[in-house]
Amino acid sequence: MNITQHTPSKKLLAVFAHPDDESFICGGTLAKYASEQVDITLVSATRGEMGRRMGNPPYLNRETMADAREMELRNACDSLGIRQLQFLDIRDKTVEFVDENSLTARITAIIQEIDPDVVLTFHEKLGGHPDHCAIGKATTAAFQKLDRRGALYFITFGDAMERPERYGYSRKDVVKIDVHAHLDAKLAAFRDHRCQTEIDEWVWLPDQEAKARFGKYEYFLKADRASSTLNHDDLFISTLG
Ligand SMILES: [Zn+2]
Repeated sequence: MNITQHTPSKKLLAVFAHPDDESFICGGTLAKYASEQVDITLVSATRGEMGRRMGNPPYLNRETMADAREMELRNACDSLGIRQLQFLDIRDKTVEFVDENSLTARITAIIQEIDPDVVLTFHEKLGGHPDHCAIGKATTAAFQKLDRRGALYFITFGDAMERPERYGYSRKDVVKIDVHAHLDAKLAAFRDHRCQTEIDEWVWLPDQEAKARFGKYEYFLKADRASSTLNHDDLFISTLG
């Protein structure tokens, strides 16, 4: 699984379920790697059109929500430095009902086309939402079936993985990324997801106060628990060019 050949730029592929997963869960990490010229592709399974938040005061309805959330996600990608965005066009809240083999095949094709060094997705059991778990399961199956180079990680919520043993993991399974220098971008991305965050007053406090609500670290679980080549403070294997 080690890579020795020089690659011109590192590539990261994130396969998530909804617009805002990328910003709310790991926006600091994505902004950090984008600032280091990592080429990032985000795949969102859905457009989040069944979301219950409509803005505050509401400015969306069921018909306008998909387009609005797509636009808000595009703005968030700009704020974070994500250059490529793809949708799988699955209806929001139905990812778990999509045929697993065909979903895995679609993600397999994306991985083969992009050829990423790092793949991020949800943990299939710890994802916290049926859409998250389903897209995580399919992405994990695709990555493992390909038996390819690179590393797969699961995104995690907040600082839960400060205590990984609660979830059946140990500290050696965790990668802890210092994102303190990228909280401006993370906050901007939160605000770009306007319909989702307008109801959260803290997001709209003065920047310093709002940023103080963010943790300084984001945490990832290694999918390959046996690997000894992975770092604990960087998603990329250090032998990469
Ligand atoms: Zn989500």
